[in-house]
Amino acid sequence: MRKRHNGPLDLNVRDIVHRPGEMREHSLEIPAPGKWGEGLVSVAEGETVAVDVRLESVHEGILVTADIDTQYTGVCGRCLRDIAEPLQVEFQELFAYPGMEATDFEVQDDHVDLETPVRDAIVLSLPFQPVCQPDCPGLDPVTGERLTEKTGSEQSEPLDPRWAALQDYTSDRDD
Ligand SMILES: [Zn+2]
Repeated sequence: MRKRHNGPLDLNVRDIVHRPGEMREHSLEIPAPGKWGEGLVSVAEGETVAVDVRLESVHEGILVTADIDTQYTGVCGRCLRDIAEPLQVEFQELFAYPGMEATDFEVQDDHVDLETPVRDAIVLSLPFQPVCQPDCPGLDPVTGERLTEKTGSEQSEPLDPRWAALQDYTSDRDD
């Protein structure tokens, strides 16, 4: 049965197959066809995924180089605050001609379908333990309440009382 080539990242390469040295470039913008990622953060279904792709015809197949720009959303792993962060990933994959070489991807009916490598590149680059900010103090282990920089004092250095006195002194002196 022939595969239907109607996916948004299923690109027709008929004009460059078996023509080593030929190259095509495309800028694509698609909505993510599903939720990508299973952890605390993911690329939501419908999120805009921009892909700059270069297709190079080489002897063994089509060499695909892609730059991906999107955004992941979810929650901070420490304080559970909602977060949304830009995500940039790139990959290079050879889509071999059938029977030419053992690769993960093949040119099929003069098409290269980038959906799987794009999804894999994104999912693999999602942070396993996302944080809203590098020094997020997280939740109070006793009350479960969200700590702020001020209430998170147990994790920061105690202020030396002598320095505190000096701070009072300097901040009073604005004459
Ligand atoms: Zn946080």
